[in-house]
Amino acid sequence: MARATVSLAGVVVCVGLAVFAAAGLRAQSAAREGDAVFTTGALRVDYLHSGGPDGEAVALDRLAQDGVWPGSLNHLLDETGFGHYRVEVTDTAHGRLVYSQGFSSMYAEWETTPEAKVTRRSFHESVRIPRPRVPVTVTLLRRVDGRFRPLWSTPVDPASRAIRPAPRPVGTVWTLFEHGPSATKVDLLVLGEGYTAAERTKFHADVARLVEAMFAVEPYRSRRQDFNVRAIDLAAPARGVSRPQNGITRRTAFGTSYDIFGTDRYMLAQDNRALRDVASAVPYDAVEVLVNEPTYGGGGIFGAHATVAVDSPYAGYVFTHEFAHHFAGLGDEYYSSEVAYATGAAEHPEPWEPNITALGNPATLKWRDLVVPGTPLPTPWDREAYEASAPGFQRRRAALRDQHASPASLDALSREQEDWQTAFLAALPYAGRVGAFEGASYEARGLFRPSPDCIMFSRAQREFCAVCRRAISRAIDAKSQP
Ligand SMILES: [Zn+2]
Repeated sequence: MARATVSLAGVVVCVGLAVFAAAGLRAQSAAREGDAVFTTGALRVDYLHSGGPDGEAVALDRLAQDGVWPGSLNHLLDETGFGHYRVEVTDTAHGRLVYSQGFSSMYAEWETTPEAKVTRRSFHESVRIPRPRVPVTVTLLRRVDGRFRPLWSTPVDPASRAIRPAPRPVGTVWTLFEHGPSATKVDLLVLGEGYTAAERTKFHADVARLVEAMFAVEPYRSRRQDFNVRAIDLAAPARGVSRPQNGITRRTAFGTSYDIFGTDRYMLAQDNRALRDVASAVPYDAVEVLVNEPTYGGGGIFGAHATVAVDSPYAGYVFTHEFAHHFAGLGDEYYSSEVAYATGAAEHPEPWEPNITALGNPATLKWRDLVVPGTPLPTPWDREAYEASAPGFQRRRAALRDQHASPASLDALSREQEDWQTAFLAALPYAGRVGAFEGASYEARGLFRPSPDCIMFSRAQREFCAVCRRAISRAIDAKSQP
């Protein structure tokens, strides 16, 4: 991917591929830069991300020492181009780019909801970078028309008294499995939300059960040795989290709630600062929040965190699906479900997510090398029959919700729909093949997914499609390379 020339605080920095022509040179150069510029600690930049109908603004909250940096200092530039946003760090004295990473945020999702057209809101977010030895400039960029453009920047002087020391650790850290130094492994941190002190044993069992559910799926199954998994015990005063649609509110450690952006099963931790302060006790590349609830729910934001309701019968599936959003930047491949942000637009720009395409030019399809020669693009599938089945299930689900039906009856309906989908999608002529199947990322038209079925498309599927497997493998590579 050829990147643009971007202007940072008056300094023009060229980040083209020509700067680092060969992979070997890149590694060597980054190693020298990394050692000279960064310590092995982490620095957290906390900020408020606000906006509404009249635009978007970022304001610094605080800078904090954030424990140990979980990655290598040899590979500090993100070359994927993923994310709605991107953080870039430049060495202020020389203007060189020394660190970059794409990410997404709650703000980016909120911005696409109807509420954002009529009111302003603010979200607390963080970016984490290796702790600098020398003055640097931290810049947030946002994607505009497919290119990252500077949004906000702040100087960071490592000697400044404004950098707060790491918070005193809260809770008890324990390890599910550990395979090596955090710099060369993916460090997954699992936090619990809504577990009382008496439920500590349950939390430990839930961590093991759900982490193992994900590691039963490829590519995690083959890459287990590339991960460390740790967890932190925290005691909540009461069981469960907030469910606004049922009138239930709980004051919990990370402010986790169902009903995010008006979608009742969408669950995120809203108190980012509290979550980050607890997480700073260990090195981590990814955070999964286990929510002690029986009702189906979860969420995942690229680079931020993922959640799952642990006692839904689908908890293993939701853990794996949402973690893929958070860890690998995968997009949702489904489109027939009620979600807060379908655009219905006639034309779509090419999405950055590695498993979604607008198929502008089939010859340059980003997963072209995985398409078996002779597979038509777009790839035919019996979309009409699939779509005709959905409204009936949605009507029945809405009726059950109106009656405040039990989680068990909602789950039974889900299983019925899953069985129908499994049989239908498995019988398609191109089942199991990679192509470009119209209907993806909440849009029925104009966006395409790589396979008829995938963990990112339906609960019926137990495996990721080939394109998603490769994207996850590449994310593991990026966080575990020495
Ligand atoms: Zn997929």
